[in-house]
Amino acid sequence: MNAPVFPELKIPDTIAAGPGPGNTAQRVLDAYHDQGVADHMNPDVLRGMIESKKMLREVWGTNNIHTFACAGTGWSALDMMFSVVHPGDKIVLFVNGTFSGIDELSVRMKGATPEELAANSLDPKASSVVTIKVPHGESVTGEIVEKALTEHKPKWAAMAHWETGSGRVNDIRGFSDACEKHGVMGLVDAVSSLGIAEFRVDDYPGIHGWASCPQKGVMALPLTYAPVTFTDTYIEELKKVGGRCFVHHPIMEARHWAIIEGQDVEKGTYHRTHSPYAVASFHEALRMVLEDGMLQRAEKYRTAEKALRAALTKMGCNVTSNMTSLLVLDLPDQLKGQEKDFVNKCRAENFCIWPTLSEPTQIRVGILNLLSEAELTEIVSRFGDMLNRFDYKTDVDAAVAELKSHLN
Ligand SMILES: *Cc1c(COP(=O)(O)O)cnc(C)c1O
Repeated sequence: MNAPVFPELKIPDTIAAGPGPGNTAQRVLDAYHDQGVADHMNPDVLRGMIESKKMLREVWGTNNIHTFACAGTGWSALDMMFSVVHPGDKIVLFVNGTFSGIDELSVRMKGATPEELAANSLDPKASSVVTIKVPHGESVTGEIVEKALTEHKPKWAAMAHWETGSGRVNDIRGFSDACEKHGVMGLVDAVSSLGIAEFRVDDYPGIHGWASCPQKGVMALPLTYAPVTFTDTYIEELKKVGGRCFVHHPIMEARHWAIIEGQDVEKGTYHRTHSPYAVASFHEALRMVLEDGMLQRAEKYRTAEKALRAALTKMGCNVTSNMTSLLVLDLPDQLKGQEKDFVNKCRAENFCIWPTLSEPTQIRVGILNLLSEAELTEIVSRFGDMLNRFDYKTDVDAAVAELKSHLN
């Protein structure tokens, strides 16, 4: 049988009001296609990678030489960061939602002994991996970390900075301090926070590896490069123990970004194929983040979140998150049990909000690159209209007025 030739694929324009990917700016999309055809060793492509590396050091707030980006999405960067964890390594994982839960699975796959992996390869039990569960809707605190590290004395500890599943900010200050105190090397999933939160990697000396993604705070939806940064201590340890993967090897992938033998060099060497489109759009997204300024950007998100929280609360919702790019909420009591239906009806109209992916079912409304008064007003109006269509009578105009009073 011949494969059919399908009609050209067309994808609609939606309001991407979820936890991520966000509403990527037209500038970034334009930079993707306004380029010539060139190969991965073209001097301008290599220059774009070197400039991106330098901009990333600014975005992360670090002098770490090994600061670059892993080709792929957030999980690619996390796979790279966890590549230093070997079978039998003692590691403590703090889990308070969907994403730190997947980080934990990923670490169990790496930390399991061959026998443990073979016994249940898709969900191995790894006796050297200690999981500290924190309930959905709560944050990982410094005390929780301190207590666990005192008790277990691991080599590594890991957690998410912002847990996107439940919208909670975890305490990286407490985490870093406890790691330093106990001589533990900290690893952080900063997929949701980079480009939104104001933090500087170099202020957290207990944390040695950081991994992020292209499409949340950095806003490069052409899923190109996932930012990573590693301290010299991490790189020394990796050199000593080795890694079992070529493509996500932090030292090897860094070479194409012109980081060789712990030094910035003039020109990168081949690691894998890079495209001018990917490099140019990522470069443009980083330029946009830095043009905003990290502090100003964090402030814009804080203001927008506070205003949207007030408007949704006015309509009877209960917000339980504390991230500034994402609101996780319960619908009014009367609509309990209808969360998924509510989200599906919004999504059918290209108003793309999300439910939580693990229990309990809540609703997630994100504001990545949706910070203008007009965009926030649209979110409040669409949400309020849907509440009314679910026979929950609410005053949408009053909610919009509430939103505006917090923006001005
Ligand atoms: C989104 C997210 C991920 C996964 O990132 P992808 O880009 O989908 O691979 C991992 N961790 C956290 C905290 C996230 O928010």
